[in-house]
Amino acid sequence: MSHSQPISREQIQETQSRRLRKLIPTVAESNRFWQSKWQAAGVDLAKADFSKLPLTTKAELVEDHEAHPPYGSNLTLDVGAYSRFCQTSGTTGQPLRWLDTPDSWQWMLGCWEQLFELAGLRADDRLAFPFSFGPFLGFWAAFEGAARLGRLCLPCGGMSSEARLRFIEENQATVVCCTPTYALRLAEVAADLAKQPGNSTASEMLKSVRLLIVAGEPGGSITSIRRKIEAGWGARVIDHWGMTEVGPLAAECVENPGGLHILETECIAEIIDSATEQPFDLNDKSATIRGELVITNLGRIGSPMIRYRTGDIVELDRQPCPCGRPLMRLKGGILGRVDDMLTIRGNNVFPTAVEAILREFPEVIEYQFEEVTRDSMPQLRIDVETTVGLSNSESEMKQFTLLAERIAAAIHDRLHFRPEIVAVPTLSLPRSELKSQRLRRRKGTGS
Ligand SMILES: [Zn+2]
Repeated sequence: MSHSQPISREQIQETQSRRLRKLIPTVAESNRFWQSKWQAAGVDLAKADFSKLPLTTKAELVEDHEAHPPYGSNLTLDVGAYSRFCQTSGTTGQPLRWLDTPDSWQWMLGCWEQLFELAGLRADDRLAFPFSFGPFLGFWAAFEGAARLGRLCLPCGGMSSEARLRFIEENQATVVCCTPTYALRLAEVAADLAKQPGNSTASEMLKSVRLLIVAGEPGGSITSIRRKIEAGWGARVIDHWGMTEVGPLAAECVENPGGLHILETECIAEIIDSATEQPFDLNDKSATIRGELVITNLGRIGSPMIRYRTGDIVELDRQPCPCGRPLMRLKGGILGRVDDMLTIRGNNVFPTAVEAILREFPEVIEYQFEEVTRDSMPQLRIDVETTVGLSNSESEMKQFTLLAERIAAAIHDRLHFRPEIVAVPTLSLPRSELKSQRLRRRKGTGS
């Protein structure tokens, strides 16, 4: 690795302050977005400390893009100084176009090098990227970061799932980087291919893979989902977190599954109460700290984000991690999205919590949620594809009814409401190599 891991909290804080002392004046001098934002908020940079800087939202970025097309005004340098382009998938609204300078891009690759170190990447690993390599950031930086480390990187853009599986097998890839949903999909395809005469079994096809690095959706830290991926591939899952707006900034360490370490030498992470917008005191040992993750990245000088509300709900893990790294750890990874929260019969429900329960049923293949209104009350409808089948035979219908009853009871037990469960035909629900949108929102479904 080109850098050494910090060994204490003091070193992390010292690094953060040093980098912040460089970032803030640079941005104040030449970045129109931050200049006008801070001016409007009446911030006196000579006096204000970091905690007095205003929070930043996605809505502000969208507005800024509309006012300053096509790239917005968060550009510290002239447009001519930028060499990389990516855009958000626009799953939660208008896509944002994001530019990086060569320096900022190198910073992104450096983040990935550290994430790979957390994931336990080995010198002889070969990485396959079943990803489309279109304009989404996705695994572009992971690909180049691994290549910069000297690992063999296998691009699998523009291929069918079947071709990707053959490619992985032929090249004996040991690590696969994709979304959790797509990891499940590839395992499904491998199982289907194995049924054809003359083909290898699914486990032979996937045998070379020892590790999956998944990102783009919260699934990687949900125990039931990761178990399903690990069982399908016979390989270990490592969850990763990043966003187009802030870069790749967190991953699970190989020593301790089920949480995300934040790369705190590369960013400042805060957890705020979404309602009051006040940051929690992360040293307060008396209460559970659970709220929205706020990120300031410290090395993407060309288009930095300062106190950015990610919209992701996280919980601080106070237990020292067995890996010995002093980096902040988020218990259970990303727990849900602030904007995905549904209120069903007085309960605050995150789709990820429902997802975790659904994945405990091996009969469930894929699903989608929708908030519907029944007798003027909000209700959750879940469409499920199951292995039970959908012929109109009486025995299958009966099997499905029993399964739906068991699922509804499990959700009722743990989340305190009873959903409506509807059987849908096999392969009728979308699978994506990008973010899967399993929550369908219908505008104007008033009660
Ligand atoms: Zn750890």
